[in-house]
Amino acid sequence: MPDSPSKSHGRKSISASLTPRSLIDPAPRLAGVWLAQVITLFPQAFPGVLGESLTGRALKDGLWQLNPIDLRPFGEGKHRNVDDTPAGGGAGMVLRADVMGRAIDHALKSAPTGAPLIYLSPRGRRFDQAMAQDLAAGPGVTMICGRFEGLDQRVIEHYNILEVSLGDFVLTGGELAAQAMLDAAVRLRPGILGNDASTEEESFSDGLLEHPQYTRPAEWKGLPIPPVLMSGNHGEVAKWRQAQSEEITKARRPDLWHAYQKGDTDT
Ligand code: SAH
Repeated sequence: MPDSPSKSHGRKSISASLTPRSLIDPAPRLAGVWLAQVITLFPQAFPGVLGESLTGRALKDGLWQLNPIDLRPFGEGKHRNVDDTPAGGGAGMVLRADVMGRAIDHALKSAPTGAPLIYLSPRGRRFDQAMAQDLAAGPGVTMICGRFEGLDQRVIEHYNILEVSLGDFVLTGGELAAQAMLDAAVRLRPGILGNDASTEEESFSDGLLEHPQYTRPAEWKGLPIPPVLMSGNHGEVAKWRQAQSEEITKARRPDLWHAYQKGDTDT
């Protein structure tokens, strides 16, 4: 498919690496554009998968902006050290408060007013579709990726940072979690998906998991598409899909089903 040039926003090439410009200068901003800033020891890991497909095209077209901020230049001494051994002893290393503090102060200069400051952390509140919607509705986000044993607690408290977890497992660093959350938020921004209705109908948006999907061929390995979907009767199709959604949610996610029945789609 040919690249569709953006209409209302300035086209700008956004490079994955920060090398060409000074690392301490604030990133050039596209005015009014949803801005994701990510403090990381691995800026070259961005945009990563966000540079592909719909999020990637939208990034190129200036529908959202990504500003990876390399933590390294904020480090201490000749080697730009960013970590040190944990106070009280124990395994691993901890990201230093002074180093991260400088990086955060730098990031806050270019953060849009009202953009939340998030630390990706397995101890955080579990990310969900409602948080993706909140992020997408705001002006952007500033994210901090941890590495090693994580971040000095004083930084989290001083900046009143919101800790958010991708799930109940431990990653090596926050970068994959940041990309997952940014993907979930950016795709909800207007103009990113071809068909806005698809975000309204999909899993979680109404508190239920999505019904099964089928496409051609009409029969595959002796398995037909459910006849109701081939009937052309939109009312019957909608009814079938709703019933399937309810059945699947009930069977797989009693927690969601319970909340749905209570009319509480936020949990
Ligand atoms: N010692 C920490 C884990 C550190 S993992 C603990 O036990 O809680 C290193 C970094 O990876 C973390 O600082 C965090 O930024 C990131 N990370 C790991 N698991 C994550 C998860 N489930 N969600 C979001 N970020 C995570």
